[in-house]
Amino acid sequence: MLDVIVIGGGPAALSAALNLKIRNKSFLVLGGNEKVTGLMKAPQVDNYLGFKEISGKDLLESFKRHAEGMGIEINQGKAYNILDMGDYFAVNAGSEYYDARSIILATGHGKANYLKGEREYLGKGIGYCATCDGPLYKGKPIAIISENEEGEEEANFLSEICAAVYYLPAYAAQPKLKEGVKLLRERVLSIEGDGSKVNKLVAEQSELQVNAVFIIRNVIPVSQLIEGLEMEEGSIRVNRSMGTSIPGVFACGDCAGKPYQIAKAVGEGSVAALSAVKYLDGKSLE
Ligand SMILES: Cc1cc2nc3c(=O)[nH]c(=O)nc-3n(C[C@H](O)[C@H](O)[C@H](O)COP(=O)(O)OP(=O)(O)OC[C@H]3O[C@@H](n4cnc5c(N)ncnc54)[C@H](O)[C@@H]3O)c2cc1C
Repeated sequence: MLDVIVIGGGPAALSAALNLKIRNKSFLVLGGNEKVTGLMKAPQVDNYLGFKEISGKDLLESFKRHAEGMGIEINQGKAYNILDMGDYFAVNAGSEYYDARSIILATGHGKANYLKGEREYLGKGIGYCATCDGPLYKGKPIAIISENEEGEEEANFLSEICAAVYYLPAYAAQPKLKEGVKLLRERVLSIEGDGSKVNKLVAEQSELQVNAVFIIRNVIPVSQLIEGLEMEEGSIRVNRSMGTSIPGVFACGDCAGKPYQIAKAVGEGSVAALSAVKYLDGKSLE
């Protein structure tokens, strides 16, 4: 059992990890896909103290070098789901599960444009992790909608166990797919079902009879990660200790609201870590 699992790989997460390391806590950083870190897209940063005219990529490299130099490992795994087990949390990271007494969410600002039918059928045939739930659809037809190349591996894996796998990429690069996977370059219009489970995916030119649809997004909507997380204007509601509506769960950086800035993310990451330490030590957060 770990003390903390930090979810994210941007400045907020790395700042939290650094402070947990200094406070001698056991923790894991689940960093996800580095390419979707907001900072990677910043051409030039001028407002972060100590670094003048630096690119976002170089600044992130510098943060990572600092963290790695302190012995912090950044796991590229993605958190799909967090279960509140009462006195600890279980994090599903695809084929791996990790347990910790506390969680720090630093997932960045990722607003999902939900597909028609997505919220209605979430958990009833719609999922965000094909590797986790795909085997439930052995011998059945399924579809994968993917915002990035991660979905290709999932489609290739499921083509060995599902009756049919349709792959609908929402990115430009040519996917590398096994022969059994059917590639469809069409915009998805809706996911439909009989009220209790999915039975159809409607795209621009096709209607696919499927039992499941997996949506591989760059960022899983944070409100889907853990049940009971209160949101405010699309961000996680936090207090000054970076505590959320769930005791033991802290949030920092862009996922905790505006302004979307590196300095705020780094500061909040450090506050979240110190609050998690207090929580673990049983001290009041006031
Ligand atoms: C084009 C652009 C220019 C910018 N310029 C500036 C600037 O000049 N100055 C400034 O201060 N700010 C700037 N920003 C904003 C700045 O990049 C963000 O405020 C900052 O990166 C927020 O840090 P964060 O750690 O909260 O989130 P992010 O940097 O977005 O990192 C979030 C991380 O969480 C990971 N993640 C998400 N979900 C999961 C999951 N389920 N499991 C595992 N990992 C997950 C992602 O892979 C990512 O690594 C800019 C942003 C953009 C897009």
